[in-house]
Parts: sequence; C-alpha cells; structure tokens
Amino acid sequence: MEIKVPEPITIDAISAEVARARHKFPNGKYLLAALVEEVGELSQAMMEASRGPDVSHARQPRKRYDRDDIIMEAIQVAAMAIRIIEEGDPDFPASLPPRPDIGPTDWGPEEDT
Ligand SMILES: [Mg+2]
Repeated sequence: MEIKVPEPITIDAISAEVARARHKFPNGKYLLAALVEEVGELSQAMMEASRGPDVSHARQPRKRYDRDDIIMEAIQVAAMAIRIIEEGDPDFPASLPPRPDIGPTDWGPEEDT
C-alpha cells in the first residue's frame, strides 16, 4: 500500500508560516505556549465552523468560521510544532536541540527491513 506524503502546497504553506513566525518572534520563547494557543484556536475554528446558524440575540454576532479558518489554524499548529522540533523551547531544556547550528540530522522514520 502506498502511503501518501503531505502535498507540496501544504508543506510550502507551513514553511512560509514558520518563516513568518520566526520573523515576528525571533527569540523562540514560549513556543509550547504558542503551540497550545494555536491548538485552542484550531479547536475553536473547527467547532464554530460546524455549528448551525447563530440564533442567539447577543449584541455582537459571533464570528463565522469556515474551512479557510480551519486550514489557517492547522498550518499555525504545524508551524509551532516544527519550531519546537528545530529550536526547542528555552523554558523546557530537554526540548532544546543539542547542536542548533547543525540542524536536523537523523530524525527520519526508521527504514523497514
Ligand atoms: Mg492562530
């Protein structure tokens, strides 16, 4: 069975988001908190997009979410996870890469033998 790898357009979008986030927040602090925040936003987008019409009488109509919002939040979740993989979070020393100057090395899946 062929296992499908991620679409290039998906990887490109995540890479662009990693670059944007690194430009905006270059110091890499609070990456775990940022990841959890993005997971919360993804959850909200998925739940709200799946709700029926707003029948409340609130003064402020609730924000409408759609699939684009879900995709955007999922990309942000993936980008924060990649930053943790590559940079670690200074508040969690065990997450820090041993040699940040050399980058990814042998993180690939184990070969089937
Ligand atoms: Mg977000």
